[in-house]
Amino acid sequence: MPQATTRPIVGEVVGPRPTGLELFGRGPRARGLEATAARRPALEKMGIVSVQDLLQHYPRRHVDRTKLHTIAEIAHAVTEGTVGQEVQIHATVDQMSKPVRIPNKKKPRSTRTLIKGRIKDETGSIDVTWFNQEWVARKLTPGTQGFFYGRLGTFRGKLQMTAPRFELVKTGHEPFNVGRIIPIYPATADMTSDQIRKLMWDSMNRIGEVLDPLPDEIRREVHLISRNDALRNIHFPDDAEDVFKARARLIFDEVFTLQLGLVYRKRKLELSVRGIPHPEPKADSLPEIFVAELPFELTKAQRKACEEVASDMTKSYPMHRLVEGEVGSGKTVVAVYACLIAIAGKRQAAIMAPTEVLAEQHHLTVNELLDRAFGADEARNLFADVSKRPVVRLLTGSTPAAQREEILDGVASGNIDLLIGTHALIQEQVAFQNLALAVVDEQHRFGVHQRKALMDKAGEDAGSPDILVMTATPIPRSLAVTIYGDLDVSILDELPRGRRPIATRVALGEKDRRAAYDVIRSQVTAGRQAFVVYALRDESNKTELRSAKGEAARLAKEVFPDLAVGLVHGDMKSADKEEAMNAFREGRTDVLVATTVIEVGVDIPNASVMLIEDADRFGLAQLHQLRGRIGRGPHDSYCILSTDVDLSTADDDPSVAAVAERLHAVASTSDGFKLAEVDLRQRGEGQLFGARQSGMPQLKMVRVLQHQDIIKRARDIATRIIDEDAELRAYEHTWLRTEMEDRFPDGALEVVQSG
Ligand code: ADP
Ligand code: MG
Repeated sequence: MPQATTRPIVGEVVGPRPTGLELFGRGPRARGLEATAARRPALEKMGIVSVQDLLQHYPRRHVDRTKLHTIAEIAHAVTEGTVGQEVQIHATVDQMSKPVRIPNKKKPRSTRTLIKGRIKDETGSIDVTWFNQEWVARKLTPGTQGFFYGRLGTFRGKLQMTAPRFELVKTGHEPFNVGRIIPIYPATADMTSDQIRKLMWDSMNRIGEVLDPLPDEIRREVHLISRNDALRNIHFPDDAEDVFKARARLIFDEVFTLQLGLVYRKRKLELSVRGIPHPEPKADSLPEIFVAELPFELTKAQRKACEEVASDMTKSYPMHRLVEGEVGSGKTVVAVYACLIAIAGKRQAAIMAPTEVLAEQHHLTVNELLDRAFGADEARNLFADVSKRPVVRLLTGSTPAAQREEILDGVASGNIDLLIGTHALIQEQVAFQNLALAVVDEQHRFGVHQRKALMDKAGEDAGSPDILVMTATPIPRSLAVTIYGDLDVSILDELPRGRRPIATRVALGEKDRRAAYDVIRSQVTAGRQAFVVYALRDESNKTELRSAKGEAARLAKEVFPDLAVGLVHGDMKSADKEEAMNAFREGRTDVLVATTVIEVGVDIPNASVMLIEDADRFGLAQLHQLRGRIGRGPHDSYCILSTDVDLSTADDDPSVAAVAERLHAVASTSDGFKLAEVDLRQRGEGQLFGARQSGMPQLKMVRVLQHQDIIKRARDIATRIIDEDAELRAYEHTWLRTEMEDRFPDGALEVVQSG
């Protein structure tokens, strides 16, 4: 561990720290920057407390002030009509007036001071004026040379520069405000971009060469300039290419240190925690029989994910894998496959779902699949090794007490092979005989703590259970490895063959709503079923929004009096919820009115229409998830996104524009990865990170979507380095290690169980 420092953690640190200069130097011998003591509060507000931080206060943009104009040139400006343009000239002060008080035209009865002067070069001269800046007259005595820059204007038809800024020419000093490409900084009320620039320039001139922590070999491999050049050029480049190369290097550094830390932590975990090496699934093993007996072929993506899972599970350290898959891509099969590997090794598995509805759904699906492969009879296990029908039980908050006792006993004795449930699984009383695998579904609803609690349920003496996390939020792999840094990622980016695309339309207002009802009716007539989804459960007098409860009654009475209309929402008793779902699953209801309780996991292949009311109220990912409840069977499916928002006002109202973009995005594609990108753009990456960010360094320049390739490259290189030198003890990795430790907040690299 690095020495604890008193330095607050602000921003990230690109070490090794530049030495030889204190930002807030004090006392006779400190080599500080004289100007900074007074600026300290302003700088600290920006998170700048060291030279290091300062150098990493990157410009927002650059302005090209390379071109110097002569006064003769700008005299043409009037005739050419380019007044108002920014110019910069190198000139000598010719005359300078004393400040004079003149009436302030804008504020009656007050005055302001005017300073008037004339500057000249070898081609001519021009008037300059300032208001209320008496210090200018003291600085610009006649004969003084300087660079002047600002906008051209006219006064009574005569060309002049009003309040130009200037930088005096001193021998041995290079100008940093003109005659070059200059940086424009994010400024605050207390400190202008100009002031930051001056401070930056002074610092640059006084620090030595910034060390490069990246081994030369890697720097060459990725074609990067040195860190020293990058830091200098990002602030004071000679040309656009300098900026480009500097950015490339600094972006790589951010990404690379991050990935290095993530891979380092992951490897450390793997090395320090004992896992359970499961037997490799052979041809006649439970998992393989299961796959062979499925009523369909696995997709290529599913097969690959299963292989990855199998390979992880046979290792001596615990699996930490994320299976990320498009809605309907068949994650459940992969989860069951993993469970069967554990069960084949004579151990137990658990599947934890975020809601009861979903847990029940899993219980049904898993049993169906297992019945097909191994028969329904749990007792008929003639040859336990090959034909054992795993014993599966469901445990939720609403499991009756008697049954609950029995299940707890079965789990403790090892008679139950697979326990499916909700949070109830991680309650105190649940003790497994030997839990070897925990599958956590839709992990965005589970915190790290819950996953850890589940892991702690593993029996005595056993190694740490494997963890398989499943999420239906499809995000690009680069982002996944960044956000879920210490998980390995399997991606199901392929839907089973024969799936039909879901036709999706945006419906506006009452007229379209009636058309939507027609679609529902005609589908029901054809033997299908429909979902109608509402943002609200109950009526509310605060909003105009429709609610599931209110509309269920209205639809049943007024719109579909001849159809069976059901209702399900989160506030119902579990038994009622279950009954509502069963009635729909068994075709006893035609139209199911619902809230977002059905958002995830519900699998009813006969449902072919979904009407989402007040669709503007839902996030993009949520709409995509909801829609994923249909299109699960062989039928053509239809999704209608209904809104009362007047989308024609999108041009004037950014919030309407965002709604329009969301709805049209969902209507135009069913590719979850594409939608995730739109979502990320709309919500900003910050928010996505916000949730997971604790314990992660900040990213300043990196945009995860834009820099996917660099992230992948950095991840690969980080993995390679950690493979060779897990502790980063080699001489050439010394600075990498320092930097990594510096950039991750205290203790973040020590986290033993995350993911
Ligand atoms: P999700 O990834 O959304 O959780 P599920 O695992 O619920 O998807 O699977 C969705 C549906 O697709 C289920 O009915 C499942 O039986 C079916 N399914 C899964 N894999 C395949 C496949 N390879 N071919 C055909 N259907 C499949
Ligand atoms: Mg699922």
